[in-house]
Amino acid sequence: MGRRRLVVANWKMNLTTPEGCSLVEAVLGTAKQRPEVDVVVCPSFVSLQPLGRSLAHTPVALGAQDVFWLGKGAYTGQVSPRMLVDSGCRYCIVGHSEARGRFGSEPPRPLSYFSDTDETVAQKVSALVFANIVPILCVGETALERQDGRTDEVVAEQLAKALERVAPEECSNLTIAYEPVWAIGTGNVCDADEAARMCGLIRDEVASITDSACGDQVRILYGGSVKASNCAEIFANSQVDGALVGGASLIADEFSKIVLSA
Ligand code: PEP
Repeated sequence: MGRRRLVVANWKMNLTTPEGCSLVEAVLGTAKQRPEVDVVVCPSFVSLQPLGRSLAHTPVALGAQDVFWLGKGAYTGQVSPRMLVDSGCRYCIVGHSEARGRFGSEPPRPLSYFSDTDETVAQKVSALVFANIVPILCVGETALERQDGRTDEVVAEQLAKALERVAPEECSNLTIAYEPVWAIGTGNVCDADEAARMCGLIRDEVASITDSACGDQVRILYGGSVKASNCAEIFANSQVDGALVGGASLIADEFSKIVLSA
């Protein structure tokens, strides 16, 4: 069976719960027109429970933007995989460049609270797989890494480390998002052929880290300044299984067009 297209809205730290509830009404209308596309919205932690109730038994799935890897305990401010399941989450973004402290639109700042490392990302991926939540694992190079010709090496290393704790037979649900850091929130979308090349490289890497069945099954999204006006070109290549959308997912009409184009 072929891979289903997937479009994920990453609302980041932008919407209150009432704002999210009204946006999701529009998303639901679009998702119903495209039953062959999987649609996921990822609101902030505080909106997960109410949106989980609104989205139960609908074609739009709920995702979180991050997770902590342990089950419970004295970890002030953290949210466990079990709490995500309890809120109705089926997906979770993990290793987003912003959570790793790698920002596309701003110069490096000493923001030590955005402190994901390859090791914490690996812990999170493994905890999500154990909880039966689909990890949407983000990988991607900075502008400087690309300029230095290190793109393929950086992405391959991020993948190898993130998947270190996952057995091949646990990979059936895995989703990867190729998100060049320099494209996130900057308006500088990656060239469609290059995005497709990177998605192909990621598929080959996943196959070599796990096995060829997993390489075939894994869904690989492109993320970074996707808009209604540029998504058709990105979706045209069969290596790209969908998109992770930030800014444009906050505008009902833009996001609907992206879902309809997928
Ligand atoms: C993202 O943050 O995952 C993202 C892709 O953002 P944007 O679409 O705004 O570039």
